[in-house]
Amino acid sequence: MTQIKETVDIPSFLQKKTGVDVYQCYQCGKCTAGCVLAEDMDYPPSYILRFLQTGLETDYKKVLSSNTIWMCLNCENCIGRCPKEVDIPVLMDFLRQESREKKLVSPKARQIIAFHQSFLDSVKHTGRLYEAGLVADYKLRTKRHLWQDMKLVPKMLKRGKLSFLPEVVKDRKKISDIFNHTIDKKLK
Ligand code: SF4
Ligand code: SF4
Repeated sequence: MTQIKETVDIPSFLQKKTGVDVYQCYQCGKCTAGCVLAEDMDYPPSYILRFLQTGLETDYKKVLSSNTIWMCLNCENCIGRCPKEVDIPVLMDFLRQESREKKLVSPKARQIIAFHQSFLDSVKHTGRLYEAGLVADYKLRTKRHLWQDMKLVPKMLKRGKLSFLPEVVKDRKKISDIFNHTIDKKLK
């Protein structure tokens, strides 16, 4: 008979890390019905909860290597509909960290991660979002459609929707300190 490998108690581990008890879910499917991205996810949110409940390493790896955790917008529609108030957005946040730490990121999520990174780098270096820099950095990271939106640039400049130079906050050190104590610390 095939042996199924069991791990540390994954539901308890998740509860300790996030405060979410995955056993509260009774698979009613309301979260999936209300999730605007469910159709594009490898597994919709209710499936993710079921995989987490089994406590099997194989199921946990399916979750960590799925695109679902990266597609989630943290919009909170699911928790708003859940009769048991299972905090799926908090779980998704933690699962994204786990996925990176365990090097199980879905190849389908690379563009999403590139966008997150470009966005964060922009805020880290200027203290504000610098749109032109964000787009250029994202395109360079993904090496996709490098010149695709160039024809929009003159119109956006004319309407003041885009500026060539970034606005920089006065005390950039404070911004760096925030990053050093949060995101950068987690990724070390
Ligand atoms: S809505 Fe709540 S109880 Fe229902 S499947 Fe989703 S997480 Fe589980
Ligand atoms: S928070 Fe994520 S899983 Fe929940 S409804 Fe929004 S996109 Fe879907």
